[in-house]
Amino acid sequence: DIGELGRDRGLAVYVVGGFVRDLLLHQPNFDVDLVVEGDGIAFAEAMAKAFHGRAKSHPKFKTAVVVLSDGKRIDVATARLEYYEYPAALPTVELSSIKMDLYRRDFTINALAVHLNPERFGELADFFGAQRDIKDRVVRVLHSLSFVEDPTRILRAIRFSERYGFRIGAQTERLIKNALQHNFFHKLSGARLFHEISLILGEENPLSCLRRMQQYKLLSAIHPLLALDTAKETLLTATDNVIKWYRLLYMEQAPRIWLVFFLGLCSGLDDEQFATIANRLGFTKKMLAELGSLRHAVRKTAHRLYNWEYLKLPVSELYFLLNGLSLEGLLYLMARNPKESIQKHISLYLTKLCDTQIEITGEDLQIMGVEPGPRYGRILRAVTAAAVDGVAVSRERQLE
Ligand code: ATP
Repeated sequence: DIGELGRDRGLAVYVVGGFVRDLLLHQPNFDVDLVVEGDGIAFAEAMAKAFHGRAKSHPKFKTAVVVLSDGKRIDVATARLEYYEYPAALPTVELSSIKMDLYRRDFTINALAVHLNPERFGELADFFGAQRDIKDRVVRVLHSLSFVEDPTRILRAIRFSERYGFRIGAQTERLIKNALQHNFFHKLSGARLFHEISLILGEENPLSCLRRMQQYKLLSAIHPLLALDTAKETLLTATDNVIKWYRLLYMEQAPRIWLVFFLGLCSGLDDEQFATIANRLGFTKKMLAELGSLRHAVRKTAHRLYNWEYLKLPVSELYFLLNGLSLEGLLYLMARNPKESIQKHISLYLTKLCDTQIEITGEDLQIMGVEPGPRYGRILRAVTAAAVDGVAVSRERQLE
């Protein structure tokens, strides 16, 4: 066991952060973060050996990840002191104790550690009133320079408070407003900003986080083009409903939910404006191209879908129309087309048509003596169409 491994090496080992917070809140959390008072990397290596896993270390930060044989990952850090030479800079590292490790964290609710060594197993190390704040359901920073050091914590405060239904402490709220007044967000790199935004958009309730961000004028602080207006809010509400609906289907394929909301957040922007946002959020060229073409594909498909409906084309044409779009694209398409019939068609595709399989392959056609060439594609398409229309017909019968 981990605690015994620590004892045998004369090191104090703790589980820290979100895992402990969620333990006290009776919420599931499988991300285990350990802190070792001593050499964290050597400890991770010993753990890997004892549990037949692998250790990947980052000597610069004195951290390591232990990957167990079942793929589970455990982060191991060395208790350390950190100095920030100027706001949002990378820390320089120096050895120290658990208290300093906890002090550099974002909020009191995340600054809690549990001893794992057998002689003190289960004892809480709570230097900053974390248990009280969890009980009082409040998000509080540890010191008044917290948001100056790292403005992404403003986004994290909103994320945790909305996730758990906690309030943000009065002083912490003042510090947020102060940080925003002083434009600290400008100093943040796009990549860090985008990371936190995608975490927010991947939460159970991103819409309430976005509304909160709007209240603090945080969206416009990131970029004026991101601010919510009535149209965007309507679309994001529809997105929220579509995601909730999709979750209830318990489908195998999981969409990148943040992406569906991100498309919603960028609705109404033209290509140039979208590129501006992508640039502020540090997108790579590849990512910009990917999301750009997804936006185009959604628009084009929306147009064709209306045509399909208007012309009363066969269901197989619906299949071919929607088959080219990613799951995120389809969900967003559903959200941005409030027309009920259109939503029904996409729902039919997602729940029934999309896994249509045909048995026949190009190889079969060859055996049957069909000349290789473009006819192959046409034949396979026709077989697929027949299969899809068959599925649709049998569904109609079921409905009768
Ligand atoms: P989640 O449930 O969203 O994963 P978490 O608390 O585990 O929440 P992580 O982002 O995995 O969040 O971070 C792990 C821990 O690292 C946090 O509990 C917190 O103590 C600390 N931490 C993360 N980001 C920051 C930050 N920007 N500033 C200070 N401490 C941070």
